[in-house]
Amino acid sequence: MTNQTANIMNRMQDNIEVERQILESIDKWVEKEVKPIAREYDQADEYPEQLVEQMKELGLFGATISQEYGGLGLSATTYARVVMRIAQVWMAPTGIFNSHLIMANCVERHGTDIQKERFLPRFATGELRGGIGLTEPDAGTDLQGIRTTATRREKSYVINGTKTWITNGVQGTCLAILTKTDSTVCPAHKGMSLFLCEKGDGFTVGKKIQKLGYRAIDSGELIFQDFQVPCDNLIGGEEGRGFHQIVGGLELGRINIAARGAGMAEGATKMALAYAKDRKTFQKPIVEHQAIQLKLAEMSTRAEAARLLVEQAAKKFDLNERCDLEAGQAKYFASESAVQNSLDAMRVFGGYSYSPDYEIERFYRDAPLLCIGEGTNEIQRVIIAKQMVARSD
Ligand SMILES: Cc1cc2nc3c(=O)[nH]c(=O)nc-3n(C[C@H](O)[C@H](O)[C@H](O)COP(=O)(O)OP(=O)(O)OC[C@H]3O[C@@H](n4cnc5c(N)ncnc54)[C@H](O)[C@@H]3O)c2cc1C
Repeated sequence: MTNQTANIMNRMQDNIEVERQILESIDKWVEKEVKPIAREYDQADEYPEQLVEQMKELGLFGATISQEYGGLGLSATTYARVVMRIAQVWMAPTGIFNSHLIMANCVERHGTDIQKERFLPRFATGELRGGIGLTEPDAGTDLQGIRTTATRREKSYVINGTKTWITNGVQGTCLAILTKTDSTVCPAHKGMSLFLCEKGDGFTVGKKIQKLGYRAIDSGELIFQDFQVPCDNLIGGEEGRGFHQIVGGLELGRINIAARGAGMAEGATKMALAYAKDRKTFQKPIVEHQAIQLKLAEMSTRAEAARLLVEQAAKKFDLNERCDLEAGQAKYFASESAVQNSLDAMRVFGGYSYSPDYEIERFYRDAPLLCIGEGTNEIQRVIIAKQMVARSD
């Protein structure tokens, strides 16, 4: 073995050991801190402040930020494994750091050196926390239809408009906001720019949105009225790049949503299995009835297939290879699996699934979001098909 090969193998061993330690501390944290409070905070729709502090200590706000900026510098693969473990128990808290990391990823990939030095260390510690503000009341899937404008005035831009459904919009302190700096240009995406906006005069929260699931984590409406942001906060320092900057960042977001889905699909399966072994009808545990066995077998197969698709997409992302097809497949399949497994688990639980005393009720309310966020599953299938055509040439 040459010295170079030995060095590479040693580094790989180190990485495996680091990942093992990270996943072990996540498992302990989930068991000790997340599981006991999930039901209470979900039902009260109360923001889990104490989890945020613990997430800071675990380094989750810097999970995918490079070490040179104070982050953990995790690969997408390790990051996805972290997310799967948390989502197995309670999916919502993953939203606190996921959209924050999409914003950070945009700065790291497209920001100027000054922006990276100014923002990334504060993102990594969680001192500044936030997410991405794209959606508006009249534009979600069709982002080129947004109306929020940013108009240049000497050394700053003035932002006007409304964003809605923004994760971390209420609790966050800094958000990446997609705007139009030129509303006349065609195609519209060439006139779109992304700004890092720290809350201040002219940037207010309209309301916290009430939701079916994914509760405890805030989704907010954000209002910009003559909000002044320094020109230095235009990501990349050049107008007209915002659409591509944010859409590129969504691949990591899609892998994360897929990881949440795979985690939830697995969590629902585990809960159903435990219940089926315990619950008896006709003098035997229901797990001995074939109808229940068929359901469990389908659930575990779906969960495992979802996990493998997540791993495949994350590996491609880590290799810097184009992965929109793989991230789309993983996001589509894993999120639908989370919905289906939550529903199947409800059937296993019978009437008790309808009570908030059982965790499965929350899974059933939380899962559908995964089919909507980071590009709806309708759009994922369009992306998959387009890539299939492109790759077949
Ligand atoms: C809990 C929650 C959190 C969210 N967090 C954020 C966030 O942090 N930041 C943010 O910017 N946004 C966020 N969103 C918004 C989310 O990204 C949008 O809801 C999503 O993009 C869909 O947009 P829409 O709701 O406007 O639906 P629409 O775009 O109006 O779509 C309605 C339906 O039409 C379908 N459709 C639309 N166009 C096409 C097409 N061309 N072909 C086929 N089907 C199509 C869609 O798939 C969907 O089924 C969040 C949403 C929720 C519910």
